[in-house]
Amino acid sequence: MSLKQVLHVIDGQETPSLSGRTFESINPATGQAWATVAYGETDDVNRAVESAWRSFDSGVWSRMPATEQAKRMRAVSRLIIERADYLAELETKDTGKPLTAAKSDVLLAAGILEYFSQIPDHVFGKTYPSDPGYFTYSKREPYGVVGGIVPWNFPFLLVVWKAAGPLSVGNSVVLKMAEQSPVTTTEFAKICVEAGIPPGVINVVHGDGATGAALAAHPRVPKITFTGSTEVGRSIIRASADTIKSVHLELGGKSPNIIFADADLDQALAGSVFTSFYNSGQICTTGSRLLVAESMADEFIEKFQQRAKNIVVGDPMQSNTHLGPLISQVQLQRVQNYVKIGKEAGAHVLWEGTPKPIPGHEQGYFFQPTVFTQVQPEMRIAQEEIFGPVLSVMTFKNDEDAIRIANNTIYGLAATIWTNNLERAFTLADRLDAGIIWTNCPHYLKWNVPLEGHRTSGLGEDLGLESINTFTKLKVNYINFGGQKMNWG
Ligand code: ADP
Repeated sequence: MSLKQVLHVIDGQETPSLSGRTFESINPATGQAWATVAYGETDDVNRAVESAWRSFDSGVWSRMPATEQAKRMRAVSRLIIERADYLAELETKDTGKPLTAAKSDVLLAAGILEYFSQIPDHVFGKTYPSDPGYFTYSKREPYGVVGGIVPWNFPFLLVVWKAAGPLSVGNSVVLKMAEQSPVTTTEFAKICVEAGIPPGVINVVHGDGATGAALAAHPRVPKITFTGSTEVGRSIIRASADTIKSVHLELGGKSPNIIFADADLDQALAGSVFTSFYNSGQICTTGSRLLVAESMADEFIEKFQQRAKNIVVGDPMQSNTHLGPLISQVQLQRVQNYVKIGKEAGAHVLWEGTPKPIPGHEQGYFFQPTVFTQVQPEMRIAQEEIFGPVLSVMTFKNDEDAIRIANNTIYGLAATIWTNNLERAFTLADRLDAGIIWTNCPHYLKWNVPLEGHRTSGLGEDLGLESINTFTKLKVNYINFGGQKMNWG
């Protein structure tokens, strides 16, 4: 079987690396390479950044009338919808996520562009009360070139997300997708050109962490937007120091999912299974710590287990599959290692799924959901982001106890609360240090609502009208049209 060839996209053209170097993308369901991908080194990153600046300086996009920008962004969205089946199939081969989930990601990505197509007409400045004879206003201006560094857990959705915000306020972008899942990023850039986004506005350079680091340190990239691990987020802040780059970071999490005895238990069960295991737990907002009220813990955990046992781990191309394989051999080993760490720390393995052979997928990176109980809040499995379907269950005695355990990590990305008590819901929401609170609705997101990670989970706002400030810089203009005359020296 011949491998799919995947190239960078620079100046609107698919292009190999200057060095000719490539790497392989592995299908995690089979463990086999299925695509050969151009590997970007510093000179390829330089070419992409230059192309982005050329397009920006020419004004083909940055000075295009807002209504026309909006029209073209909607055209990208439409083409994505038209090609959703094709894109989903590529995404499934690259990531192992079930085809149905991949299709839903692709459609969500189209929705992001539809939302962001409204932004060009909403980039407002302000006027300020001024002295007589003066007029003072501020405006928002694009940075010029924004670098987007993207992880592998939702490749197409996140690459569109990373591009849409900067694009909607007139920037050109250089995108670097994770080395595990590069294929649909090149497709996205090609669709953009086809839909009328001028060449050079959306550039793609493939490669690994070194490629990302070259982009993050590039002196002519004034803004980086990154989604990924907290560790790499720290490297990006360090890389930004020399040029005082502005960075926007969406990082890791260890999100609590808190069940109170007054919750709608049926919904809490369904929602808890979903937030614990969806996308094989490979989401920064996965509810990887289940905190359940002591008074009903036994009953809840028993029912949770029964429900979770229905999860089908299997061939991602089959429509009844809930979870495909993990993204890579490295990730599989990392998750297995955390199970070992949990056992050694004395947590109780309530349930460890036994891998079942999946015909034709013997070399795939499959991992069954695993549940630990009797977890202590200080244990590593309760503190560190595992990024796999490994759940740590803890109990709490009262609301104060729940808040204390929930806030007891370095992260602050998201928290889910299950309760029907209004006072409790609002009090908990105030006291939990997380950027997103989901009351009875884990993973619910709307593109018009901003988000920001707290503590080590992020830096800067994204989505909604708040993204305008994130992807523009401020300029003020003081105009003297009849105020004081200068008389100095
Ligand atoms: P994950 O933990 O989900 O694998 P990472 O944070 O490791 O995510 O990677 C997310 C993205 O950051 C990927 O595109 C990866 O290639 C890139 N990356 C990794 N290391 C660096 C680095 N030092 N500087 C910039 N980008 C990096």
